[in-house]
Amino acid sequence: MKVELHRLPFEMNALEPYISKKTLEFHHGRHHLTYVTNLNNLIKGTKFENIDLETIIKVAEGPVFNNAAQIWNHTFYFACLKPEKNYTLKGPFADVIKGSFGSVSFFKDTFVKSAVSLFGSGWIWLVMNPKGSLEIIQESNAGNPLRRGLIPLLTCDVWEHAYYLDYQNRRIDYIEAFWKLINWQLIEKRYTFATEIGPIVQWISTFVKASADKGMVIS
Ligand code: FE
Repeated sequence: MKVELHRLPFEMNALEPYISKKTLEFHHGRHHLTYVTNLNNLIKGTKFENIDLETIIKVAEGPVFNNAAQIWNHTFYFACLKPEKNYTLKGPFADVIKGSFGSVSFFKDTFVKSAVSLFGSGWIWLVMNPKGSLEIIQESNAGNPLRRGLIPLLTCDVWEHAYYLDYQNRRIDYIEAFWKLINWQLIEKRYTFATEIGPIVQWISTFVKASADKGMVIS
């Protein structure tokens, strides 16, 4: 199975002025592509060649894990963004957020603080745990919550390559810009779907596959 670079679900300049065309050209066209190329080279002729990306992420270590997870994480991250700016977090999913975090503003503050305080490179995730509660977690480097038995709903890439061209060292400014681009309708759809399939054994694999089929993970 050859892993393919997933196309961006929007034009390169669609997220301006918050994330520039130049940043996306490097982020998707160079960094994301490099992970795809690396993984295909690494798995050729190995036991990983014919298994799906999520399984590789759950069982592999070292460079194979790093490149596989970075591919999945980036595809998921780009899908979280939408050119129509300032989607507001409202309606039933805002109530879910309030149930887990107390208020939408505390949720945002916690997410931003987690993103700013993550040392070095990594990812901030909003996830659903097996009890059905939502959590914000930090993952360093290529970390992916599927390995912890958690269902990813939203992620923010805090590797410097995600923001340095636009914001240099000002990660906080990038996080605020990212917040304006979040497609909350999609995040809610992922949550609703995860709650519906929750009791199923192997629920993470089921979630990933079925939500990908429905275009919720990768488009
Ligand atoms: Fe990245």
